[in-house]
Formats: sequence, C-alpha cells, structure tokens
Amino acid sequence: PILFAWLSHRTAIRLAEHKRRLELMSTRDGMTGVFNRRHWETLLRNEFEACRRSHRQATILLIDIDHFKTINDTYGHATGDAALKSIGYALRGYERRYDGMVGRYGGDEFVMLMTDIDDEGELRAVLDEMVGDLHVDIQVGDAVVSVHCSIGAAVWDRVSDADALLGQADNALYRVKQHGKEGYFVFGEE
Ligand code: GH3
Ligand code: MG
Repeated sequence: PILFAWLSHRTAIRLAEHKRRLELMSTRDGMTGVFNRRHWETLLRNEFEACRRSHRQATILLIDIDHFKTINDTYGHATGDAALKSIGYALRGYERRYDGMVGRYGGDEFVMLMTDIDDEGELRAVLDEMVGDLHVDIQVGDAVVSVHCSIGAAVWDRVSDADALLGQADNALYRVKQHGKEGYFVFGEE
C-alpha cells in the first residue's frame, strides 16, 4: 500500500505538471512569455465586463516596434527575436506594476490593458516613462542595435465596447507612426 500510495502521488504530481505546461502553451506566446492574442482577447472581454460592473477605468495600449523589418534585414532574425524578447520583458514589468494584461498581438505588435490608471495626468506619466523604458540597446558583435517603440493609447469612454477601444488605440498608433515614431499618442487628443 505504501508503494502504491507513493506511485499514485508521483503520477498525480506529473499529471499536474503536464497540465500546467499545456495551459502555459495554450495561453502564452512561446517567445516572449506574454499572453497570446487569442487568450488575451478572451481575457479582455471578461476584464472589460468586470470594469463595467465595478466602475473601473480601462485603457488599451498598442505597442509596435519601430523599423522592425530593418532590424531583421540588417542584423538578422535572431536579433529581431532578441528585440521582441526585450520589449516583452519590459512590458511585463508594467503589467505587474499597473495590474495590466499584456499580449502579443502580431509580429512586432503588443497590446496591454490597464485598469489601474484613473486620470489623464497619470496616464501621460506612465506613457512618458514607458517610451523611455521601451528604448533598449542590443549588442550584436561590435554593433549596438537601438530598438524603440511607438504606442497608441485609448481610454474607455464607458460607452463603447472593447473592439471600438482597440480600434481607437490602433488609430492613435497610426498617428505616432506618421509623426516620426518613438512616442505615444492618446486617441481623441490634439
Ligand atoms: P514600423 O516602423 O512602421 O512599425 O515598420 P516595421 O518595419 O516595424 O513593421 P513591418 O510590419 O513592416 O515589419 C514587421 C516585421 O516583423 C515583418 C516580419 O517579417 C517580422 N516578424 C514577425 N514576426 C517575427 C518574429 O517572431 N521574429 C522576427 N525576428 N521577426 C518577425
Ligand atoms: Mg513595427
């Protein structure tokens, strides 16, 4: 009986570990460790509803690496991957600090939901800091590759839905890309 109990205990631990790994694989982006797009979108719907019920604010940020294609083409795919990992890592710091939720939205595009930021002044302070933190230098042989990002932000008006908010963030991001990149824009502001 002792041997049997020990064996089933070990099996249970292995199964639990296996389950944890499967869950991780189905919800996270393998390269950067942030949520994958599908899972992030599911979480967004739930979190948005929770914000609606509890009268919390919601802000969506779309973060896109500047000139990523050139980084890939000039320094190779591995350097591009290293850039993605660095940006993902930096964003996870913000996720922890601001009770956020970060996902990889596309090739070089990340998305973050923040529910802890209540006023415009605070949002601008976070965005200022974030643009600085998302400027990372990567050493490639003798060269230093400078990686930076553009951020489009949209604050929920408490009327529209999550898709509309995402569209506004995308719109804001587009504007940053048009105006020299490495910066941010908040939708609806001049
Ligand atoms: P912009 O400054 O306007 O954002 O332009 P960009 O060059 O960053 O954007 P573009 O959309 O032209 O390039 C994105 C590139 O990202 C194209 C694709 O080959 C590359 N890419 C997508 N996924 C990965 C990946 O996982 N690793 C690497 N290294 N590159 C990737
Ligand atoms: Mg890009």
